[in-house]
Amino acid sequence: DEAIVQVELAGLCGSDLHVYRGAESVPRGTIQGHEFIGRVVSSRSRFVSVGTLVVAPFSTSCGSCVGCLRGLSSRCSAAKLFGSPALAGAQAEFVKVPHASNSLVALNPVLDVSRESLLLCADILPTGFFAALQAVTHPNLAGVLRGIPQTDLVWSAVSPLPSTSPLPALTAPALTFAIVGLGPVGQCALVSLLDILMRPTQAPLRLPDDSLLSRSIRLLLVDGVPQRRLTAVNMVNTIQKTSGGFKNLVVESLDLDQAQKWTQSRNLDECADAVLEAVGANSSLSLAYHLIRPFGVISSVGVHTSPTFPLTGDDLYNKNVSLAFGRCPVRALLPLALGTLERRQDVLGKIGGGGLIDRVVHVNQAVEMYKLFEERKVGKVLFRFDEGKSAAKL
Ligand SMILES: [Zn+2]
Ligand SMILES: [Zn+2]
Repeated sequence: DEAIVQVELAGLCGSDLHVYRGAESVPRGTIQGHEFIGRVVSSRSRFVSVGTLVVAPFSTSCGSCVGCLRGLSSRCSAAKLFGSPALAGAQAEFVKVPHASNSLVALNPVLDVSRESLLLCADILPTGFFAALQAVTHPNLAGVLRGIPQTDLVWSAVSPLPSTSPLPALTAPALTFAIVGLGPVGQCALVSLLDILMRPTQAPLRLPDDSLLSRSIRLLLVDGVPQRRLTAVNMVNTIQKTSGGFKNLVVESLDLDQAQKWTQSRNLDECADAVLEAVGANSSLSLAYHLIRPFGVISSVGVHTSPTFPLTGDDLYNKNVSLAFGRCPVRALLPLALGTLERRQDVLGKIGGGGLIDRVVHVNQAVEMYKLFEERKVGKVLFRFDEGKSAAKL
């Protein structure tokens, strides 16, 4: 069940930097990269046809283990991560894909999206979507989003209670969401969160009406890099301009010091209902904890490599914090993420100029781009491959 894909575009991702910095050791010569789109040039799978344009989630999945059957493909028992010692990566002209019939997803040519933006489906868009999804679908936020007490909704499911009518949108407490880390994944989390909140009656929220759009919503956008904050704020403005979703949206752009001060100057009632953490560092997790209100949800999709954990049981008890962690089941969430990609081409489809994709360069500039990305001087970078040249090599 294998296929070989000729890579058309490969992404440079924050998790490639763990290897680049030496935080993760791999044998010399390991091919990096776990994000790609391309065409199948050879297939041993009955379900994968040569010539099909495909995307692969960053880790393979078998489709038949317990994890896969439950839709939790990121923990497939046979999963292999592209760009690791177990499986050669995709920053190369060709990539071999095991479990191809389940791992490869054919890209519909009629999708109304830019070609480059399809690459985002390999990892960062589903991962950002997952960060938002884990927060807004958490039972602790179910009553909060509807403006009714938790006892009336989730907890009454096991013991019916008299129902309270929702507070009018204008008097319900403000909803506050924080995003810590506004690199490409954090930006995808932001776009996904807004897209979900803007369509409250649709999946995954399925609220009974669209009163959420009239609620006071506060967004805290936190990152140490001014350019990333600026890009994120511009994305919010673009989305508001094209979709005009929220009537009472307040955006606060905060560097790390300002975010610390914010937590010290606000009372618990003003803290965040959910924090989406897209860094993967202990410092950002600590900050997320200080930003969260009691019964809030911290949804963390950053790749944590620290051997220590910055929170204690005492911390978690004292705020009734829920933590949702880990690798996104990209294969399972791809169909939902494709919907976000189509709806939000205003920010996901552009290259440069405030869009999510910063540059598309030839792979022979990879060394320079790794350096610039490490220095946080570029945003999302895609590598292209000269098709004619690689076809000749085949
Ligand atoms: Zn990635
Ligand atoms: Zn599996």
